[in-house]
Amino acid sequence: MRRVTMLTCSALVGLAAIAASSQSRGPDNVSKAVLYEGGRLIVGDGTAPLEAGAFLVQNGRITALGRKGMVTAPAGATRVDLTGKTVMPAWINVHVHIGYEGYTSWGAENYTPRNVLDHLEREAFYGILGTVAVGSSPTAQAIQFQQDQQAGKFPPASRFFFMPGMAPPNGGPDAILIKATTALHAVYEVSTGPEARAAVRTLAGRNIKHVKIWVDDRRGTYPKMTPDVYTAIIDEAHKHQMTVHAHATTLADQKAVVGAGADVLVHIVANEKLDAEYLALLREKKPYWTPVMGLGDRSEVCDNDPFVDQVLPPKTIAAIREMSCGPAIANAATREEMIANNFPKMVAAGARLVLGTDAGIAPRHSFGWADHHEVARYVQLGLTPSQAIMAATQRPAELLGIKDMGTLAVGKSADFVVLDANPLENIRNTRQITNVSLRGTMLDRDAWLAGWKKAN
Ligand SMILES: [Zn+2]
Repeated sequence: MRRVTMLTCSALVGLAAIAASSQSRGPDNVSKAVLYEGGRLIVGDGTAPLEAGAFLVQNGRITALGRKGMVTAPAGATRVDLTGKTVMPAWINVHVHIGYEGYTSWGAENYTPRNVLDHLEREAFYGILGTVAVGSSPTAQAIQFQQDQQAGKFPPASRFFFMPGMAPPNGGPDAILIKATTALHAVYEVSTGPEARAAVRTLAGRNIKHVKIWVDDRRGTYPKMTPDVYTAIIDEAHKHQMTVHAHATTLADQKAVVGAGADVLVHIVANEKLDAEYLALLREKKPYWTPVMGLGDRSEVCDNDPFVDQVLPPKTIAAIREMSCGPAIANAATREEMIANNFPKMVAAGARLVLGTDAGIAPRHSFGWADHHEVARYVQLGLTPSQAIMAATQRPAELLGIKDMGTLAVGKSADFVVLDANPLENIRNTRQITNVSLRGTMLDRDAWLAGWKKAN
């Protein structure tokens, strides 16, 4: 039986052989085991860290994990001493806009596989090894990119995921993003319930598991998605085991989409306080929630922090400082007051926090370091560092159904970050990155930095 299958698939056998040989650089490498020992291990599931832990990596996976001295390594294994270091799982960002940023330009003309890869490298540089492009990537190109990356055709970078978006004609993405997404026909335009259902079925037919919808009217400047349309999208998506991410920024819209069964809420209400009716709804529905606050915050480029500046062209930094680093805008204090009030209430009511940044819209809040900004924000607003890290590790893996990422555990891909300091003591220590491991291989972060410098 097996033979017959092999023969009928003879064309595929050749491809498989090429893929296998490009992944393994000889028999020694394949079987090479590495034992990392002595480091503090943050598992990523909110449990207490394993002080002085150890884990074994073989063939790109964690094959054993426990206390130092309790994990045995096969003969000939390499030993790496991580005493004094902290290890956490690589992060996953569920909300990014990939492909348009070019630093000296921004738009559809930049959307190439090479530029998508560049943005994924920037996420990986900062320890984010899963990145989800939300509603702004053209479907056919995105599927192609994902297949090519899975087939090993690209150099190492963050794992690419995407979901298509749906909006009313001329609605949806904000003033910046809409021009680029329109040029690439990246957003599905739907006006009626039946149209929306047909669009969802098309996506389901391509085995797409997530879809984004925009429901707000951007303060009256855009057409609003009507309840019959988003209700149809959510209902049809759930029939196909698909997850709906809803962009909603006002209290009324958030109530409406959560009430209608949206699975993931995008944005935080920042112009009014949440009310008891909404909190009761959250307690009932417990949606995933990515507040994406950073894009509205003062840019970290204003802080002269090398952690941020190292990856950006000097001209871009200068332009941001000129544009965005003056006195705070008039409503900043009110926004902050609303966020400080609403964030803890959302979490207490059961909204399941997941990391998202909206990076890719503007360089003042860009790939990779924006993730560290957002996670630090969670702590500033009342979460423990352990809870904040969980929102960037286990929970997005759970939301996206990525079975081999999200925690440090046996069977997971060896996707982890080695830190020089303990982020459980101070969340800003997530920035003390020594190394990032992608499937057991340490990324060459210096080579990327040199490349980005050269490009400038
Ligand atoms: Zn967005």
